[in-house]
Amino acid sequence: MRRSSLPGPEQADVCIVGAGYTGLWTAYYLKLARPDLRVVVLEAAFAGFGASGRNGGWVTAESIGSRERYARGPRGVAGVRDLEAALRSTVDEIERVCAAESIDCDFVKGGRLSVATTTAQLARLRAGLAGARAWGDGEDVLSFLSGPDLEARIKVAGALGGLFAPHSARIQPASLVAGLADAAERRGVIIYEATPVSAIEPHVARTVFGDVQARMVLRCTEGFTARLPGLHRALLPMNSSMVVTEPLDDATWQEIGWTGMETLSDEAHAYIYAQRTADGRIAIGGRGEPYRFGSAVDDRGETSPQTVEALQAILGRLFPAAAGTRLDHAWSGVLGVPRDWCAAVSYDPVTGLGAAGGYSGHGVLAANLAGRTLSDLVTGEKSDLTALPWVGHHSRTWEPEPARWAGVHGLYVLYRTADRLEAPSAPATAPGVAAPGPRPARAALAAALGRVGDLISGIPH
Ligand SMILES: Cc1cc2nc3c(=O)[nH]c(=O)nc-3n(C[C@H](O)[C@H](O)[C@H](O)COP(=O)(O)OP(=O)(O)OC[C@H]3O[C@@H](n4cnc5c(N)ncnc54)[C@H](O)[C@@H]3O)c2cc1C
Repeated sequence: MRRSSLPGPEQADVCIVGAGYTGLWTAYYLKLARPDLRVVVLEAAFAGFGASGRNGGWVTAESIGSRERYARGPRGVAGVRDLEAALRSTVDEIERVCAAESIDCDFVKGGRLSVATTTAQLARLRAGLAGARAWGDGEDVLSFLSGPDLEARIKVAGALGGLFAPHSARIQPASLVAGLADAAERRGVIIYEATPVSAIEPHVARTVFGDVQARMVLRCTEGFTARLPGLHRALLPMNSSMVVTEPLDDATWQEIGWTGMETLSDEAHAYIYAQRTADGRIAIGGRGEPYRFGSAVDDRGETSPQTVEALQAILGRLFPAAAGTRLDHAWSGVLGVPRDWCAAVSYDPVTGLGAAGGYSGHGVLAANLAGRTLSDLVTGEKSDLTALPWVGHHSRTWEPEPARWAGVHGLYVLYRTADRLEAPSAPATAPGVAAPGPRPARAALAAALGRVGDLISGIPH
């Protein structure tokens, strides 16, 4: 059932623009902290219309930005460690609220697995582990798995090794956002749908139905932010596409394993992400067309046949037992990427303007932490959360077009070329069996292209 539009001009204490995870968690925690506040959420379409209703369902404490960049803040390395600890504990916070509010979203804390299927991917995976160890991450945060230990979790064809991170869960994303909207309403939050905000200014959100005057106005519009006046180059709207198979039969699941419901990715430059759903399907996603010229947002969620074919081919390569399986759905969505790939939470008590987002594809978990943090900032609560280094973090704006389009497309051409060059000359058919690797010259070229891509993008690893 859809909610009604804003009936006309209104007054509120806090007006939140956007009913995705960020806006709804913020509203929920605000009403818990201050039940007396009038909190109004304005949503252009319906609660969960954006990435929150159509993501890969990874609740992962994965990095939401570069450790080095966050460490340049006043709290240095200690601040980064606190941010990462806060992200890890957020998995349990989401589970706690889901239980307390009876939100049934298929939550399983099975951890996260990243699997390498080429020697180049294995080298990146080991480098990633060494980097994490240098930052002090122990076995309780990240561990290396191979051979029978990896196979006991999941049988990925040609898997040479994997990294396992326990602080991660799988969910059904649309169920979480729908349940969260209901929970917020039960606490007294007012949600208006089909109410696009045309401008956000100090103490006012403007719509065609009238203005909402509020002491605080919080922008929680992530991948759609570029549409708002003055914010065209603030966050790059990046597309991600997904497909989901029909439910697989028991024999296929016997071959694949995956009984722990870990979220799964590979170590390709243009990586994929996947989950085993509660009803026995595989949902798998990756970048289709990564970016549209002029920061255009395709909100119809259409996915090109080439992207669907590419995801189906990857599915069959990783899981030969599932090759040829029917795909039941394909869709796309948009997420927000800041120029330095570092998510941020901000609030200015003078203007009453606040915002959170720029999670670069890792917002399912981070939006909860952002929501709790925005709530503390708005209520003036100086807390451990408000001292985290992503609070007040500033990222510069993206380049004007056509540089923005050329940069993002150039990056993905480099990444995809590097991935193709790294691919083995023949497919592997069993876990732990390395397929013949590329010739040394090809491998060297792939590594160089990958490095150039990393340098251009500044993507943190
Ligand atoms: C296909 C896909 C897969 C992903 N997979 C994962 C994953 O597995 N794990 C993970 O951590 N992250 C993933 N992400 C990213 C994650 O989903 C997002 O980071 C997160 O949902 C952002 O939540 P949000 O509330 O900030 O933004 P959104 O969910 O995008 O919500 C913003 C809302 O604001 C509304 N809005 C926008 N502009 C206006 C306006 N002017 N007026 C009123 N309302 C407005 C929109 O309609 C929307 O409902 C994925 C994203 C996509 C697209």
